[in-house]
Amino acid sequence: MGNIVAIVGRPNVGKSTLFNRLTESRQAIVDEASGVTRDRIYGKSEWNGVRFSVVDTGGYAINSEDQFENAIREQVLIAIEEADVIVFVVDVSTGVTDYDEAVAEILRRKAKNVIIAVNKVDNHQQIPEASYFYSMGLNELFPISAINGAGTGELLDHLVKILPDKGEEEDIELPRFTVVGRPNAGKSSLINALIGEDRNIVTPLSGTTRDSIFTRYNKYGHDFYLVDTAGIRKKTKVHEDLEFYSVMRAIRAIENSDVCLLMIDATRGFEGQDQKIFSLIERNRKGVVVLVNKWDLIEKENNTAKEFEEALKSLTAPYTDYPVIFTSATEKKRIFKALEEALAVYENKSRKVGTSKLNEFLLPIIENYPPPANKGKYIKIKYITQLPASVPSFAFFCNLPQYVKEPYKRFVENKLRQKWNFSGVPMNIFFRKK
Ligand code: GDP
Ligand code: GDP
Repeated sequence: MGNIVAIVGRPNVGKSTLFNRLTESRQAIVDEASGVTRDRIYGKSEWNGVRFSVVDTGGYAINSEDQFENAIREQVLIAIEEADVIVFVVDVSTGVTDYDEAVAEILRRKAKNVIIAVNKVDNHQQIPEASYFYSMGLNELFPISAINGAGTGELLDHLVKILPDKGEEEDIELPRFTVVGRPNAGKSSLINALIGEDRNIVTPLSGTTRDSIFTRYNKYGHDFYLVDTAGIRKKTKVHEDLEFYSVMRAIRAIENSDVCLLMIDATRGFEGQDQKIFSLIERNRKGVVVLVNKWDLIEKENNTAKEFEEALKSLTAPYTDYPVIFTSATEKKRIFKALEEALAVYENKSRKVGTSKLNEFLLPIIENYPPPANKGKYIKIKYITQLPASVPSFAFFCNLPQYVKEPYKRFVENKLRQKWNFSGVPMNIFFRKK
């Protein structure tokens, strides 16, 4: 189960510097594997073996008509609602500002787990000044320097201690699916079409995150959980239009599931917000099925669906191997097809290929198309094996792994995808020294 840590605070206190420091090492690994560019909003972190996600709320443009202060207040409220721990960053060089006071007041009233990071304490002499921030009435204050790392170890020690215990995953053996997407794409309509008013099948599982509801679906020979963050059905209209809100929601749902049904609105196309959610799914290494909903509203010619799919995939390239289903949630068109695809993706995600089969298939291909020589050095791949991991991960053992470039990784990934079905599943390709 994913734990989410949100970084809040006013501009320029050092939120994004802290975010980078917390997510650096793991982010590098994730990026190497997926070849996607990092952004400053969302990343993975790990401390003393405890994993969690970090969201930098400052990475969101505030596009509200409200005054700046109100908009920030809104963002803090959303962060409290959706995150497990709030790291409130303040700046030792400015002291406590009015804005800090205002945020502190919200946190005192509403948040359970708060850590204050008094940033820019670059040397020991400044530590006493950090204690002025106790006047905000919040405990657990850590003087840190996001720039040089001082104090961040103590902060992290405390952080992982107060992360809620999410329990073991083994009590959930069924596949977990979630429907994500921008507001008004049709998510609630789909969920209602699937489970209707059958409320007795709603079972909150032990060890699940605060607001997530797992609905067991077992009808028509299918058996799985639908993950619903509170409010997909019971909507809170207040923040609905805020992009930040739907992205925070999506993060929580994505982390709790195996396969995500990303619903987009056919009448609007695949826009920035959809792309952001798609990339969150990919970076979380979860399976994906894209549902192009409200297809009933589209005027169709022979190739309309095909063209839509091509346009979509040109925006997610190089990742294009995933199912796309054209649905109508209100007319109940192809919604069972969507479920079947989600189950197929779940199977693909668990697929294991034996070492001898892998080598029989790949070694001749590699022989014919070896990685290009680098600085006059030839790269020799000796054997390939699938690693035990939650997504299909393959290690290519060779003499000079550092010389293998991204295009060659994609080449072997595509060969694997053509031979075995990994549709809808992110893959990891590693080159390792042997
Ligand atoms: P954000 O707007 O809250 O995300 O703040 P940034 O992370 O962009 O940082 C704002 C400015 O503060 C930048 O110029 C950073 O280099 C600087 N800064 C961040 N952390 C520290 C720190 O620990 N010490 C000092 N001296 N400057 C810092
Ligand atoms: P959510 O915000 O993603 O949960 O979206 P809703 O399920 O609340 O749907 C938003 C609006 O779109 C509602 O008015 C729905 O009736 C409508 N809607 C949802 N799915 C479809 C569809 O497949 N076709 C049409 N024509 N309208 C839809």
